[in-house]
Amino acid sequence: MARLLVLIIVGYVLYQMFKGRPAEKELPKESVPDEETFKDPVCGVYVTKEDAVIGTLDGEKLHFCSMACLERFRDQLEK
Ligand SMILES: [Zn+2]
Repeated sequence: MARLLVLIIVGYVLYQMFKGRPAEKELPKESVPDEETFKDPVCGVYVTKEDAVIGTLDGEKLHFCSMACLERFRDQLEK
């Protein structure tokens, strides 16, 4: 019985780990695991292509979670 309980706890911990680390900020949406995601370079949130605000830098595409992050990124570049 005790062993079963341990297994349940281990399973729960693994589940929590795979579910993703605790987010400091609100995620725009539950991320879908089998969908390609991109990391927002400003706040570190993962966004799907559909949800992303796409910006370009030297021809390279950057994916942001929101316009606010894109603008923050632009501000940082200007400095
Ligand atoms: Zn962001």
